[in-house]
Amino acid sequence: MVSRVIPVESFDLVIFGGTGDLARRKILPALFRRFCAGQMEDGARIIGAARSEHTTAEYRRFVAEAIAEFNAGRSCETGTLDAFLDSISFVQIDAMGDTGWSELAGLMQPDRVRAFYFSVGPSLFGPLAERLHQHGMADSDTRIVVEKPFGRDLDSARALNVTLAQHFDESQIYRIDHYLGKETVQNLMAVRFGNMLFEPLWNSQYVDHIQITVAETVGVGGRGEYYDKSGAMRDMVQNHLMQLLCLIAMEPPAKFDPDAVRDEKLKVIRALDAVRAEDIVRGQYLAEAEKPGYLEHVDDQTSRTESFIALKLGISNWRWAGTPFYLRTGKRLRARTSEIAVVFKETPHSIFEDDGGRHRNILTIRLQPNEGMDLGVTIKEPGPGGMRLIDVPLDMTFADALGPDGEDVPDAYERLIMDVVRGNQTLFMRGDEVEAAWAWTDPLIAAWEARGDRPQAYESGSSGPEDALMLMHRDGRRWREIRP
Ligand code: NAP
Repeated sequence: MVSRVIPVESFDLVIFGGTGDLARRKILPALFRRFCAGQMEDGARIIGAARSEHTTAEYRRFVAEAIAEFNAGRSCETGTLDAFLDSISFVQIDAMGDTGWSELAGLMQPDRVRAFYFSVGPSLFGPLAERLHQHGMADSDTRIVVEKPFGRDLDSARALNVTLAQHFDESQIYRIDHYLGKETVQNLMAVRFGNMLFEPLWNSQYVDHIQITVAETVGVGGRGEYYDKSGAMRDMVQNHLMQLLCLIAMEPPAKFDPDAVRDEKLKVIRALDAVRAEDIVRGQYLAEAEKPGYLEHVDDQTSRTESFIALKLGISNWRWAGTPFYLRTGKRLRARTSEIAVVFKETPHSIFEDDGGRHRNILTIRLQPNEGMDLGVTIKEPGPGGMRLIDVPLDMTFADALGPDGEDVPDAYERLIMDVVRGNQTLFMRGDEVEAAWAWTDPLIAAWEARGDRPQAYESGSSGPEDALMLMHRDGRRWREIRP
């Protein structure tokens, strides 16, 4: 398959936190892949910035090592790495002080896009925005990319929005949620709004329920202290799962334009019902063999922070009233998998005598592993005999469709960083969206804190607490299996 690569205009990208984990694992390898794909025009420059001291030569070695480790197995022409490294430099900078700012300002070139990626802790977002402004780097061609977490509640998110808005227009602020950059997530919109087949059925009349699962096998590990102040609701549901829910549930936007799409997503968040206490299950994983349990990672042995959460939600609008959405996410679960399942209603009646029962279609959108989609359809079992029906998947794994070994499926960060340079905000969260998501999340957290609810213990390697299974069983439904 021939993929079309459109070079983006020349740009300067400054990565604050250029020596950090995210830069090493995701941002730098993603930029290299876009460079290999011929998408970065000559003259594009990447400037790593961090508090520690490095020469440009040392930083280039760091970048080369990151690419060797996290881009292994991806093909790129010989010699390309050197050309890529030539575009990279380093500036020592202190987000909280004066070091390095004049040097950085001196490096900026006029008349080209400037993007500043805030890949640092959230307490530095405000100071960085302020210093960019003070040093004359916050002009109308400037874009800033802000990593998660965007606040820890409505008040802090609002305060951050106000601080950023003092120096940048909303059209310059790119709040990143890397789930939105996944090929499958964009394909979800293509499938919904590029086909006649699905949209007429995409409502409570035909859809029985929708499940969204984001399961991880890892625990909180060395991030225990940070995670314990957050939990699965803040860390995953308020942002990633909420974004997936919005794309699944939103009305068709009039056009694929940033504000048109984000207006529709916002309407979904605003139409979410308050969640009843009995529709929320929270859990904490137990130790397993050599692997420590949640409480062994944190200082507070009475911690009530959840490493797992399952919720049943309702959306009060004409399209979805009566169709439940079940969301779950957790750590140390059976497999690492993220998927959305749109479970259609059963056929009303079976005309086939030999057939055991009624059938239903399930559209599964897999975010990881093996990004792709499949649609479960019912067909006749091949061979002579009666009309026995079987359910088979119409499978579209993108790796198969896009290239050998799946190597052409772009990583979310590749897409998103290039969108920043192009100035396309469609796949980034707008300030009011983030605030609306916190406005929905905050009362739920406040309510379980006020009740003093404790998370339920669950076995590592399981599907979460028993009550999470009951959340669906009591409605006569069941979760899809968590499997690799
Ligand atoms: P990290 O590994 O701790 O790196 C932090 C970076 O910030 C380092 O480059 C550090 O530079 C720099 N830094 C710290 N204080 C600074 C200061 N005063 N001035 C200038 N630079 C300073 O963090 P990370 O994991 O890369 O995460 C960065 C951001 O991305 C965080 O907001 C995180 O929540 C978010 N995020 C991370 C991931 C991930 O997978 N890592 C995923 C999603 C979101 P020095 O090395 O010089 O100290």
